[in-house]
Amino acid sequence: MQEGFRFADELGPAKVIHIHEPRTGLKAILVVDNVAAGPSIGGVRMAVDVSLEECFRLARAMTLKNAAAGLAHGGGKAVIFGDPGMAAHAKERVIRAFGRAIDQIADYIPGPDMGTNERCMAWVLDEIGRAVGLPPELGGIPLDQIGATGFGLAAAIDVAREMAGIELEGARVAVQGFGSVGKHAARYLAQRGAVLVAASDSKGTLQVADGIDIQRLMEIKAGGGAVADYPRGDKLDRDAIIDAECDIWIPAARPDVVNEDNAGRIKARLIAEGANIPLTLEAEVALYQRGVLCIPDFIANAGGVICAAEEYRGVNQSLAFQTIEDRIRTNVAAVLEIAQRQQQTPRKAAIAMARSRVERAMGYRRS
Ligand code: NAD
Repeated sequence: MQEGFRFADELGPAKVIHIHEPRTGLKAILVVDNVAAGPSIGGVRMAVDVSLEECFRLARAMTLKNAAAGLAHGGGKAVIFGDPGMAAHAKERVIRAFGRAIDQIADYIPGPDMGTNERCMAWVLDEIGRAVGLPPELGGIPLDQIGATGFGLAAAIDVAREMAGIELEGARVAVQGFGSVGKHAARYLAQRGAVLVAASDSKGTLQVADGIDIQRLMEIKAGGGAVADYPRGDKLDRDAIIDAECDIWIPAARPDVVNEDNAGRIKARLIAEGANIPLTLEAEVALYQRGVLCIPDFIANAGGVICAAEEYRGVNQSLAFQTIEDRIRTNVAAVLEIAQRQQQTPRKAAIAMARSRVERAMGYRRS
């Protein structure tokens, strides 16, 4: 394989751009993976240890996620090499330089990711006139504040629960990572009658058999506390959440937290993946063989990107929520139906569905 084309396959990537601007010290990579369905949307990640490979894998994940969500957008991703905690003026210079450097790459629409936020997107918008994940004053929908991804997860669970033989009324839920995604998923599920019986964060696990007051726990976390500061219940170590007695288990923290060694400890019948790749492929297969239903990450956690795409179209928050609900319900039903019919894991079914949508979109393009 020629140098520079090592990731090339039948879907992409369409462009891999290395950006270096000695004056500001900007070093960045942009991967525009596939734009058959429309201009690519994907986050800008800033960290010291990012890489071309990571950027490509994330861009491909966005191609599949956007296709699975039925968006008229392809997938892309950018990484900026640097410490996201650098002084504010230095960060603004670097982000603005990045914005100017991608000005002509009109088939990439940047959004926030690890190390960047709505402020950074406002700077990019100011430079080149396009970005998503903006502050509300610039037409942005504050997706972490309103819990777009958690809302989508709750909708996904509502569809999958029937196949898993679970009634939402009284269903016991455990959430790993009571952060932006996890807390809102718990909140929206509670509105449908479910009970949060366990929650964890990076410091520990809280377990309350008769239910956690979600509002109270959100206040404790917002005040800088940990889940273990909740006044009642059992306080256990961080990974004890894996053993929680529950019906629905929601990983919403880190990648690869469930693997071949600990997958056997999961008691739930349904797992909805809020985090990206929280289960290794081996763990997903082992759980599938045990009859545990897993809704794969890029189907279950697409609420955020659907919201971003709606923001780009100038849609308001309540219509964006309606779209999230519709899209996620339809996609979860489709994926689970294919998985059941073809006797394969939901992930395999979801990848096949997303790939075929991308290929069909490519079929409309001039060859
Ligand atoms: P966040 O930082 O708001 O919350 C993460 C939570 O996980 C925190 O409470 C943290 O203490 C906890 N945590 C960290 N390590 C842990 C561990 N080992 N065990 C238990 N808890 C741990 O982050 P977030 O925005 O909620 O994102 C969570 C995951 O969801 C990430 O994988 C992210 O990529 C993914 N995701 C987020 C969105 C979104 O809209 N925010 C969309 C799609 C996917």
